[in-house]
Amino acid sequence: MDTIVVGAGVAGLTAARLLHAAGQRVLVLEARDRVGGRMWTDRTAGFSVDRGASWIHGLTGNPLTDLVPAFGMETHEFTVGSFQAGGRPIADHDESGRLLDADATRRWTDDVDTADALFQRTIADSGHDESYATAAERTLAATGLTTERADRVRAFYRHRTEEQCGAEAEQVAAHALDEDAIEGDEVIFPGGFDVLPRKLAEGLDVRLGTTVTAITRSSSDGVRVDTRTESFEAAQVIVTVPLGVLKAGTIEFTPALPDTVAGPIDRLGMGVFNKVFLQFPQRFWQDDVYAIRRHGKPGFPWHSWYDVSAVSGEPMLLTFAGGAWGREIERKTDEEIVASVLDALRALYGASVPDPVAHWITRWGSDPLARGSYSYVAVGSSHDDHDALAGPVDGVLHFAGEATYAHEPATVHGALLSGHRAAERILGAPIPLGELTRDVRQE
Ligand SMILES: Cc1cc2nc3c(=O)[nH]c(=O)nc-3n(C[C@H](O)[C@H](O)[C@H](O)COP(=O)(O)OP(=O)(O)OC[C@H]3O[C@@H](n4cnc5c(N)ncnc54)[C@H](O)[C@@H]3O)c2cc1C
Repeated sequence: MDTIVVGAGVAGLTAARLLHAAGQRVLVLEARDRVGGRMWTDRTAGFSVDRGASWIHGLTGNPLTDLVPAFGMETHEFTVGSFQAGGRPIADHDESGRLLDADATRRWTDDVDTADALFQRTIADSGHDESYATAAERTLAATGLTTERADRVRAFYRHRTEEQCGAEAEQVAAHALDEDAIEGDEVIFPGGFDVLPRKLAEGLDVRLGTTVTAITRSSSDGVRVDTRTESFEAAQVIVTVPLGVLKAGTIEFTPALPDTVAGPIDRLGMGVFNKVFLQFPQRFWQDDVYAIRRHGKPGFPWHSWYDVSAVSGEPMLLTFAGGAWGREIERKTDEEIVASVLDALRALYGASVPDPVAHWITRWGSDPLARGSYSYVAVGSSHDDHDALAGPVDGVLHFAGEATYAHEPATVHGALLSGHRAAERILGAPIPLGELTRDVRQE
């Protein structure tokens, strides 16, 4: 075997597909009974519910923009996937639950724009040990906003790290979201985003239900990869398991990983970000909004609901629980979670908000093959830690996955580009990304 790839998420499948297209013998070992990892579309209800990734975060300069149509995937414009304050119609509700009028909405988005401009300057002056929370406080003090308006922006900043990092503002480094600017529109997938990994997997040797337990390397003899039942040998290995799995130490590396890789595993954070989809018997919210938002302190814990009815054709709202709240809901029953979301919606739309007819709730933190949703730059770490995590170690052990890609961590396209980088390193030559669509069937 030339290369073994551990993990059949988008990073592993990208690397495997490119190496296979270049003529290598490649084996992909995946612990789950499906490919896709954190891309996972639930179709049990007859429509798509993306329990993992659902958005392309910015079409401009994104490798997915060309790939997705080449795979025959239909998209739907939905440019609020990165916790924007405005840009698209949002039903903003104030602290008492009242809908903001057009002037108040404009003032709110202006406040965020003003604070963000100051925030950029504060962050530029921050070191690795400053948190997003303290940088936000320094910024808010400089805005001169009234207490109520500053409280709103503060709540928004806190929700931003909960959603974009899956962590609290105190845990996240001030610089964590430096790469986070969205270029171009965002889109979601009526047919489900996991068509992408399923297409990437076509024609590859992927062994499902195969859990890797140990990896032994030597610079002269390559690698041995042990699973629960078998061992495999290859010249090189690419490990794409999530950062949470690396942190848990469930794969034993011999010799132990050097500090250049073990350090980043330790320092970077693994956040939790969960989704709650509610399908209602009928709409009770406005027709013309992308999202509903509750401002200020009453927006904790539930603050934003996204109208994803266009995907299912049913009245559906999607809300998120990130950071500490994301971890906390994993200890609650579905009924408790749904009741809690409904309380928050009824505070905005009244007691006539109906009970949902169905719900979908994720628990990525308790998933032993993810142990979280995505990585983030924790206080004391830097974006360089992401790239350092990629290795290679002794020229034979490579890492890929969203956590290894400093330019775009925590995204599908970052994971894809990390797989591309690992394949190019193994081949020692550039590979055009267009090779990914070679021999793929159109739907
Ligand atoms: C709720 C949620 C929402 C998200 N939303 C978006 C979004 O809208 N847009 C976006 O761009 N990104 C989003 N992301 C992030 C995106 O899903 C990930 O960055 C990306 O899918 C990660 O791909 P990966 O290949 O690095 O890892 P994974 O997809 O996690 O693949 C790693 C694979 O390794 C396997 N594995 C683990 N341990 C072992 C083992 N011991 N042996 C063998 N196999 C093992 C796992 O089962 C998994 O299949 C979201 C993530 C979550 C959780």
